[in-house]
Amino acid sequence: MISELLKQKETMSFEMYPPKKEDEFEKAFEVAKKLGDLKPDYISVTYGAGGSKSKKTVEITSFIQNELHIEALAHLTCVGNSKKDIDEIVESFKAEGINQVLALRGDRPRDMSDEQFNSRELIHASDLITYLKSTTDFSCAGACYPEKHFECFSKETDVANLKLKQDAGAEYFISQLFLDNDYYYDFLDRAARKGITVPICAGIMPVISANQLGTTVSLSGSSIPKAFSDLIAKYGDNADDMRKAGIDYAARQIIDLRQNGVKHIHLYCMNRPKMTAEILEAIK
Ligand code: FAD
Repeated sequence: MISELLKQKETMSFEMYPPKKEDEFEKAFEVAKKLGDLKPDYISVTYGAGGSKSKKTVEITSFIQNELHIEALAHLTCVGNSKKDIDEIVESFKAEGINQVLALRGDRPRDMSDEQFNSRELIHASDLITYLKSTTDFSCAGACYPEKHFECFSKETDVANLKLKQDAGAEYFISQLFLDNDYYYDFLDRAARKGITVPICAGIMPVISANQLGTTVSLSGSSIPKAFSDLIAKYGDNADDMRKAGIDYAARQIIDLRQNGVKHIHLYCMNRPKMTAEILEAIK
């Protein structure tokens, strides 16, 4: 179980996403295999917003767990799912022997009306965790946000809400990406003061193209430190140099985290095994 591993040792885990289209499964299996060759402690598989997407998460998570024999964590969101939908997804997990989930609320889908959003059965991730804990024997993890979740008005309240997830049964947390380790250290202090005692995995995303700043990074709500904007200014126009600089930046973040006692790193691999291998090499 991942929750046990986290208690026993330092870990390095990866996140991948399932294929967007039906005919891209072979490629996703290949990505999972190559990531598996790098011997992560576990691989987590994201979940698309909306119920019908769960099949792809189930297939990839099952492949990692049952074919590659690597610990696998399936993400699961509740924003677009009723309790009945969750029951059905749970059954599809159970059919594959999957019993470890990252329980999330999820972002509101663009096509969801105010009425649908306001009348959802499971409101917060903590409600999903409570529900899963009362209906299954699944191990549940939750998400956390070093610079706070974008909807929350204060860091203190966000960490208090995080405690609700721990109280509901979250056994560990995985963090949103951050580009400035000082935010993470500050978050760890605040979390400890609020009584967060479960392990926390630091989410690191290598930013290897300037485009990522306008998409993934800005959506994450993470701030961009000067050291990073300098790097974009210097290398952003040259794809190869930017890739190298992004890998180097992520590696330096990980080395600094390890030196400061952070035991668990979760790499947002973006389905790029070669880049992931280069980061592992750089932190040796
Ligand atoms: P919650 O924990 O419910 O928090 C959402 C907001 O509500 C926060 O502002 C929080 O402070 C507040 N809140 C929480 N509980 C309470 C409460 N009881 N009372 C009042 N306010 C409360 N999205 C996907 O669609 N698929 C994925 O696979 C996916 N994987 C992710 C993995 C990680 C590691 C992270 C960090 C995020 C991931 N996301 C994913 C994005 C995530 O779904 C969004 O950030 C979403 O907006 C919040 O989800 P949550 O589970 O953190 O929500």
